[in-house]
Amino acid sequence: MKPATATINGSALRHNLKLIKSLAPNSKICAVVKANAYGQGIRCVTKNIENMVDAFGVARIKEALTIQESGYAGKIVLLEGFFDREELLKTLSRRFDTVIHCIEQLEMLEKVAQEWQKEQEKGFWKRKTKIYFPVSVWLKIDTGMHRLGIHPEDVSEFYQRLSQCPLVSSISFISHFSRADELDCGYSEKQIAVFEEVSKGYSVERSLSASSGILYWQQAHYEWVRPGIIMHGISPHNRPITELGFKPVMTLSSSLITVRTHKAGEPVGYGAAWISPKDTKIGVVAIGYGDGYPRNAPEGTPVFINGRKVPIVGRVSMDMMTVDLGIDSQDKVGDEVILWGKDLLIEEVAETIGVINYELITKLTPRVLIEYKEE
Ligand SMILES: *Cc1c(COP(=O)(O)O)cnc(C)c1O
Repeated sequence: MKPATATINGSALRHNLKLIKSLAPNSKICAVVKANAYGQGIRCVTKNIENMVDAFGVARIKEALTIQESGYAGKIVLLEGFFDREELLKTLSRRFDTVIHCIEQLEMLEKVAQEWQKEQEKGFWKRKTKIYFPVSVWLKIDTGMHRLGIHPEDVSEFYQRLSQCPLVSSISFISHFSRADELDCGYSEKQIAVFEEVSKGYSVERSLSASSGILYWQQAHYEWVRPGIIMHGISPHNRPITELGFKPVMTLSSSLITVRTHKAGEPVGYGAAWISPKDTKIGVVAIGYGDGYPRNAPEGTPVFINGRKVPIVGRVSMDMMTVDLGIDSQDKVGDEVILWGKDLLIEEVAETIGVINYELITKLTPRVLIEYKEE
């Protein structure tokens, strides 16, 4: 009987990437695999698609190291750049691409470059064990998200200083949408206009679109797109994208570990939070908040058993949850229970619980087994 398991379908993953390529045919792909590839297992995901992408994007240097140490020799982009000097030195010795989004990062890079040049002039450098390489820098420009990125008016100064820095091999421009899934709000058009304006006169590669940008803002694909969640067949908002041809990659499942008859008027679980209005059968499923399934999932949140949806009743506990199978249930101990997957879209689960899909998949804990299969 299997415990909580995330089954990852490798062929669905590659299918989704092909679809992304057809949506952005003139762009290179920086596949974003931060947060353990959105909970799907960073090593296996990257192995599965490394021949189909032009770069991997991550949020932490540890993730970049994991990918490189698994044998991938291509481009890896640190989407928030280095956090301190030690990370910068690693970035240079490992030849990661780095975002630069603030003056502190630029100054740190300039300082290291100066020291590097001095050492080289003195001839000390070649005796050092560490070798630094000039790296590609992605200058992050704030076009309206107002989170990371330099002000548009500072672009020319940053660009000049970066072009003079001997540890910089190339410069690209990057920015991020804040409302790309709201098609009629007018905000993305403004961000695109700002991005166009600041990049006038520079011959640089540009990147603005993550998943929503890829789906909805054709004019903002530029030289690089950065898909994350849609690679996994999951929507960047709560409207499913299966109609667009995407296939869910992950199936989260577990098993029924007991089925019990239950009398009307009796409560179930902690706090007696649910009282059955009628005689029924209760199934206990081996998955809980200790696996990352949200404890606040309300009564009625669906799970999928033997071809039908049944509701969660009572509180989700650490290792288990209880579901109302109905009085006529034929379900048996050991039967598979699907929490989300192609038969029960994660969008429906997220909508019922009141969270976003991103949160559901990235919160799965290491206790959940990750299994790969090809369809
Ligand atoms: C996470 C992230 C992405 C991918 O976002 P999705 O919405 O999952 O496609 C792209 N770019 C940056 C900078 C990110 O941090």
